[in-house]
Amino acid sequence: MKVLIVGGVAGGAGAATRMRRLSEDVEIILFEKGQYISYANCGLPYYLGGTITDRERLIVTKESLLRDRFHVDVRTMQEVIAIDSLGKKVTIKDHSSGNVYDETYDKLLLSPGARPKVFDIPGVNMSGIFTLRSLEDTFCIDDYIRAHTPKRAVIVGGGFIGVEMAENLSKRGMDVVLVEFSDQVLAFLDKEIVYPIHKHFRENGIKLALNTAVKSFARDKQEADTISVTLSNHTKIDAGLVLMCTGVVPESDLASKAGLALGIGGSIHIDNTYRTSDPNIFAVGDAVSVTSTVSGKQVLIPLAGPANKQGREVAEYILSSKEQPASALLVQGSSVVKVFDQIAAATGLSEKQLISNDIPYKKTLIHPSSHATYYPGAMPMSMKMLFSPEGNILGAQAVGYEGVEKRIDVIATVLRLGGTVFDLEKLELCYAPPVSSAKDPVNMLGFTAANLLKGDVVFFYPQEVDELCRQHAYILDVSTPDERDLGTIAQSVSIPLDELRGRLSEIPKDRKIYVFCRVGLRGYIAARILMQNGFDALNLAGGYTTYNSMSKEEQALKNDEEKLRTLTASENIMTSINDIASQAFSDSPTKTIEINACGMACPGPIMQVAAGMKAMSAGERLSVSATDPAFASDIEVWCERTGNTLISIQRDKGTFHVMLQKGVASETANMQDGPDMRNAGNDKTMVVFSGDLDKAIASFIIANGAAAMGRKVTMFFTFWGLNILRRSNYVPVKKNLVEKMFGFMMPRGSKKLGLSRMNMGGLGGLMIRSIMKKKNVQSLEELMKAAIESGVRVLACQMSMDVMGIKGEELIEGVELAGVATFLGAAEKSDTNLFI
Ligand code: FAD
Repeated sequence: MKVLIVGGVAGGAGAATRMRRLSEDVEIILFEKGQYISYANCGLPYYLGGTITDRERLIVTKESLLRDRFHVDVRTMQEVIAIDSLGKKVTIKDHSSGNVYDETYDKLLLSPGARPKVFDIPGVNMSGIFTLRSLEDTFCIDDYIRAHTPKRAVIVGGGFIGVEMAENLSKRGMDVVLVEFSDQVLAFLDKEIVYPIHKHFRENGIKLALNTAVKSFARDKQEADTISVTLSNHTKIDAGLVLMCTGVVPESDLASKAGLALGIGGSIHIDNTYRTSDPNIFAVGDAVSVTSTVSGKQVLIPLAGPANKQGREVAEYILSSKEQPASALLVQGSSVVKVFDQIAAATGLSEKQLISNDIPYKKTLIHPSSHATYYPGAMPMSMKMLFSPEGNILGAQAVGYEGVEKRIDVIATVLRLGGTVFDLEKLELCYAPPVSSAKDPVNMLGFTAANLLKGDVVFFYPQEVDELCRQHAYILDVSTPDERDLGTIAQSVSIPLDELRGRLSEIPKDRKIYVFCRVGLRGYIAARILMQNGFDALNLAGGYTTYNSMSKEEQALKNDEEKLRTLTASENIMTSINDIASQAFSDSPTKTIEINACGMACPGPIMQVAAGMKAMSAGERLSVSATDPAFASDIEVWCERTGNTLISIQRDKGTFHVMLQKGVASETANMQDGPDMRNAGNDKTMVVFSGDLDKAIASFIIANGAAAMGRKVTMFFTFWGLNILRRSNYVPVKKNLVEKMFGFMMPRGSKKLGLSRMNMGGLGGLMIRSIMKKKNVQSLEELMKAAIESGVRVLACQMSMDVMGIKGEELIEGVELAGVATFLGAAEKSDTNLFI
């Protein structure tokens, strides 16, 4: 038998090797119009980002291996340009020699893949605008970047490739704007899961232009490097490189010209045995449609997993007359994508797809941790599962930092085997604290879904909350007051879970009670207490965390728009910064000081920056490296507040490299020491009343942060707070009996303080100190020293000292004794006064 294969990558190469393993007799000729076969399409973005550095590594199977080991006649640079299905032959154009020739076949396999969809946008064909499909595309883009060193890339389209390229071009040092027509990236995810990705993109400096289309591309001069990109909101962005990632369409022109039937979306129509409308011609991969295991409908799922499996499976159908339905044509769409430090994964259908397919469903949302929370390094995860009213799993998706795809893979397996949420409850999965939890997140999804189906809990969802608020529904927050301080649903009533049983009389029995906590677990417990006490209670699925993430998106979108609007302006500013800076320093190159704050936790890096800047003169630059994830957003705010200039932020494998310039560049020419941001009116004051270790740490972290931002900070220590300031060694001073007793009973200095909660006879304090040390957070003593050194005024309340019998000599150095008037004087000039 003679088999010809069109397309030498995932489906084609896989089919060739499998056929050879099944038969030594078959003659196999593989045509590939490009230069390379069997390469790693999925790795291309990572080559462009610099993670994969060796071009050779992108070749999965070498042409010679296919020839020598598998005895396949590989013909690269040879494009099949016509099929004569009656004469059972194809016409080939050899791009190396220009020759055109025919080749006959007994069976023909088409695996031509899918090509990038490019919309007819004015200017889209100009140089500097690329699509990414093949190795050739990749090397072209790479060469262009090397030759032109573009500062900014505009990526059009927020699908898999767009999202991966946004990360990778940013890693390559470019400022990236991601333009997406819809209101979210990664259409296969629902909002609850994709919003954390939007946030993570923003944190990593990617500018999102959602709900936005590209109207045109233009270039002032033909040879100029800058492409002016006009968006549908009339914003114009200058880019050095544009990447069109607007989806793919099945490569079916060859099949269509041969008269083969086409299916949905222009795909090559096949039956469930890979046969096209001509029984001697088979097709696999991105060029064909598949059947959704969930909806039963024909869908296009252009992914490597299905294409590879189909390539393997089709070999049997070609070599024998197999008629059983092919299993690799049933696809559930399991997929995963990495976005900087986050991973998002999904299987089955999303909520949007279920709605558009009219499939009834129920849903659950949880926020588990990647492993047991008592073992260091547990990372949060958001998970959503969709299931039928009978419990059949219809889809699941998750986003987080670790262990995300593992959980989705387990659910994908259960889904594939036709399992239910009740099966998830029963799954016995591997567990050890560093990697998992005794009740794995997959089990937890099963529990919550089963609870819902059994009627143990009734959910309400984040999307309903605003309407409930408008209707003045009774919304009950069972979080602790401290958690509530960090944010809550407006109009909610607060009864912490542990007080609930004793305060049931405060809750109305004639209304629905909408309960929520942070992530949904305590809300569930509260709802159970209420339900068993005769209340009609519902629990917020995903808790405040999901609601908060959803409600913040609206504001974030506005900020995105604002950022884009100022982008062009800021470019002009950047030019003037550079002009002025180059004028000001034309004779002497700009002095750059380097700080390595890697490994330090917040506010360590910011404090380092503040200290570094203090010693610098206007116009000098500071290059900072830091690994703290919050540093990117902190430094932006810090610069804004302190009147310094953020020149650039780059991220490389979890390390931020930031370049700053002292002062606002336009002022640098005239400034000697940079601006004085210590304006009266935005000072910060604090009353530190508590003598608890955790509260003391928090107060000094805030104080150091504010001082680092150039604010005047005054801390007023009174009553128990005075103990923080006591020296740890015994200081012989004259005291009466009561004062001596008081002094003996109170902690002597910062090292003796206990935690406000979970102190466990001092063990809690020791634990927190050890965790802080491991995480590179400064100790309380270091924070105190840094605060005093950076000019924070530490006032000890004289009146409290008298009452408690504490003498001035007992206090650490740098503390001022003061009365309330001193504090109030400072408070009047402050815009923030905290009572801790
Ligand atoms: P392809 O692998 O595209 O191979 C088709 C080949 O046929 C091409 O090389 C083409 O040149 C050749 N050809 C076409 N017409 C002719 C002709 N007339 N004559 C001769 N040769 C012809 N999927 C995932 O699951 N995970 C990922 O992370 C992922 N990342 C990706 C990243 C990028 C940048 C790209 C482009 C794709 C990615 N994919 C990913 C998709 C995955 O690569 C495809 O689903 C898979 O390669 C499809 O296999 P295929 O054989 O159908 O087509």
